[in-house]
Amino acid sequence: MEKRYDVWVAGAGYAGAVAARALAEKGKRILVLERRDHIGGNAYDCLDEAGVLIHQYGPHIFHTNDKKAFEFLSRFTQWRRYQHRVIANLPRDNPEAVPAGKKTDGRFFFPVPFNLDSLKNAFGEAEGKRLGQKLLDAYPAHGQVTILELRQNPDPEISAIADYVYEHVFVHYTMKQWGQTPEEIDPATTARVPVRLSRDDRYFQDAYQGMPAQGYTKMFERMLDHPNIEVRLNTDARPALKEFQGPIIYTGQVDELFDYQYGPLPYRTLDFQFETLPQDVFQSHGTVNYTVDQDYTRITEFKHLTGQKLPGVTTIVKEYSRPYTGAEGETPYYAIINPENNALYAKYKAEADKKPQLHLLGRLAEYKYYNMDAIAARALDLAERL
Ligand code: FAD
Ligand code: UDP
Repeated sequence: MEKRYDVWVAGAGYAGAVAARALAEKGKRILVLERRDHIGGNAYDCLDEAGVLIHQYGPHIFHTNDKKAFEFLSRFTQWRRYQHRVIANLPRDNPEAVPAGKKTDGRFFFPVPFNLDSLKNAFGEAEGKRLGQKLLDAYPAHGQVTILELRQNPDPEISAIADYVYEHVFVHYTMKQWGQTPEEIDPATTARVPVRLSRDDRYFQDAYQGMPAQGYTKMFERMLDHPNIEVRLNTDARPALKEFQGPIIYTGQVDELFDYQYGPLPYRTLDFQFETLPQDVFQSHGTVNYTVDQDYTRITEFKHLTGQKLPGVTTIVKEYSRPYTGAEGETPYYAIINPENNALYAKYKAEADKKPQLHLLGRLAEYKYYNMDAIAARALDLAERL
């Protein structure tokens, strides 16, 4: 088997599939081994029993400023124009906090990232406007500011806004997602969702945004459809890797690859609760974040994302986060980035570096919080270097 292939790739997600295709086009013969029974990694989508296109491993929205990665992926899909918008749904704790005339069952809503309109929803029109101007004066030409930065501001009124946003957007959601407060987790994580000093209510501001027109799985099928690529599903790559002396691109967990010899790397996993409902639409936005109460972090309704036209039925998913235990069937979704875990990762990386043929690539193998576009870009870079 070894002789027929130039490069082996473990995993058929973004990292594995993009690297495989880029190398195949340079004339390399690639064997892709994928443990699951499908390609696409965590971006995999499929029709559920009701015929709704769902994302089995949680909602995925494509967005990037990386032209090269976008153009590469665009060879395998057309894009549906889609700009993700998210609102927070939370209990009302201020009589001013509901726009007049709206029936809200004691709850209210504002755009996330928290922006100048969120301020008005929270504090009422006039006060919200005044506070918004105060923020704009304090951070001229900034566009946005992170919650941790905002909390450092000594001005008592700005500090009160920071406290409000901390309490109503970040602290409870972050506790649900990470089991830790915003101060305890990597600052880059909460910085993904800044406080916006504008009325822009899009979740992402990247130049290229959208959803693959026929879904992610179709895009991956086309990417891997190349005479130089063979894909074997239901195959754990680890035993086979011992046989192969050539270059290996490994996109799975690095601690597992080295038999947990330094102990397991910590991750968060998610439980997804899918619900199919006999109605056209469930909620106003693609994703609604429950930033203060509920055990789940957010509810996503797929039809908003995919644009699928399917009358009388819709599917939503609720996400519940908890520590990854390594039990059968659990998926490690998020690396828990902190100095201690990074140091543990560094030990595994040092093991990998002893094997010049082994290349670690991807969210799991690199123990990083990468979006899809970042992985695609890294895979293209690695393919070029190889
Ligand atoms: P994966 O997608 O995890 O692929 C790794 C593959 O390797 C898997 O298929 C796995 O089965 C396989 N594998 C592992 N070990 C082995 C082995 N030993 N042998 C064979 N195969 C193996 N990014 C965005 O840009 N936008 C979003 O909206 C977004 N939403 C997200 C929502 C959630 C809930 C999560 C968890 C992530 C989200 N992401 C999003 C991030 C995105 O999922 C990742 O960037 C991307 O999937 C990383 O690709 P990857 O190839 O590194 O890893
Ligand atoms: N976050 C939050 N409240 C929100 C949205 C995000 O506290 O309403 C924090 C939380 O810590 C989360 C992080 O910001 O883990 C990053 O959010 P993002 O939506 O980027 O997470 P992902 O989609 O990757 O799960």
